[in-house]
Amino acid sequence: MIWYPYEQMKTMKQPYKVINAEGVYIYTEDNKLIDSVSSWWSVIHGYRNPKITQAIKDQADKFSHVMLGGLTHDPVQKLTEKLKNFLPGDLDYCFYSDSGSVAVEVALKMALQYYVNKGDLKRIKIMGLTHAYHGDTFKTMEAGDDEDYHFVLKAYGENKNVIHIDTEIPALEEAFEKYHDELNCFIVEPLLQGAGGMRMYDISFLQRARELCDKYGVLLIFDEVATGFGRTGNRFVADLVLPDIIVLGKALTGGHIGHAATVANKKVFEGFYSDSADHALMHGPTFMGNALACSAALASIELFEEGHYMDKIAHIAAHIKEKMEGFTADGIVDVRMMGGCICIEVEDSKMLKGYQEFAYKRGVFARPFLNYLYAMVPYIINDDELDKILDCMKAWFEEKRG
Ligand SMILES: *Cc1c(COP(=O)(O)O)cnc(C)c1O
Repeated sequence: MIWYPYEQMKTMKQPYKVINAEGVYIYTEDNKLIDSVSSWWSVIHGYRNPKITQAIKDQADKFSHVMLGGLTHDPVQKLTEKLKNFLPGDLDYCFYSDSGSVAVEVALKMALQYYVNKGDLKRIKIMGLTHAYHGDTFKTMEAGDDEDYHFVLKAYGENKNVIHIDTEIPALEEAFEKYHDELNCFIVEPLLQGAGGMRMYDISFLQRARELCDKYGVLLIFDEVATGFGRTGNRFVADLVLPDIIVLGKALTGGHIGHAATVANKKVFEGFYSDSADHALMHGPTFMGNALACSAALASIELFEEGHYMDKIAHIAAHIKEKMEGFTADGIVDVRMMGGCICIEVEDSKMLKGYQEFAYKRGVFARPFLNYLYAMVPYIINDDELDKILDCMKAWFEEKRG
């Protein structure tokens, strides 16, 4: 039996069975659906992208995988060189892993050990944001603040070494004032908090965070697993405010194979670079630097560079804005948008019950959660396809109202 994600297996409805996928479309046995959520926000170039598919095939003809312990290879070297140039500042030191959650774990481990290596054993506190989501593994659940995981608090009690603050500058200043000599790192989903409800906040918060992190020697970690590769309308939020560590996942391979990277700056890397074996980063996922995944990621980044993606995303953002700005109906609390993301927040999660089936009938695949009806579209979408998604969202409320 397949144990499906985030589901009460007893009451879950049958998932749609996919037989093919290409471009923005998912094909089931009886339907053709525009994927409005890019398979958990990852499939930015659409499905079965020819360049990425070819890169995977070519690499599979050589070898699919070798371990990175004691071995290295072209795809991982080329991807690392590419990321060095593609990422801002001196975010040059790439540690690979198989999923976003693990990559966040690695970032937190790096930050904590960074200070231990320096002999500073007081800096043990991690600061995060309320409503944060950083993954499903244990430390990421703690750094996060997702109600779905509050069972952890019930089971183990609150972790005194994790602090959460709101995305407001006074709260930020107050927390630094209070905890600065114990603070190890500040981890955020920059500008857009995804799984916590597509919450958007201002860059000034991150600018102030960077200042305070510099002032007090706290490491700033951007979890750009969701926001990276254009989702906020910036290539990376790190282009605007430079973190010490950036975490990439989801769209890294264009959503074609799971892989993730934790990329540190020189300062962090040098905290581990010494004559002492104890200072090494003791982590090594079996499939880190997988050759197929690295080949896919390399092809994906090349597509991003060559395909004028920032223009595509700006066009999508403008189109969404034109269509959705000011849209309102009974029970809608907020309509917010940023880059390639739109979210309609409703008063009561019951209001979205049945939406998935409604959308299915209109040829759209959607997966609202809690009080949030959202779209995070593949960037290759055209205006008609985008309209179909947005009209479907509107129709849900209009038909209910009428
Ligand atoms: C999805 C996500 C993760 C976890 O990535 P997985 O590959 O699902 O483990 C971590 N952080 C953010 C911001 C995410 O959106």
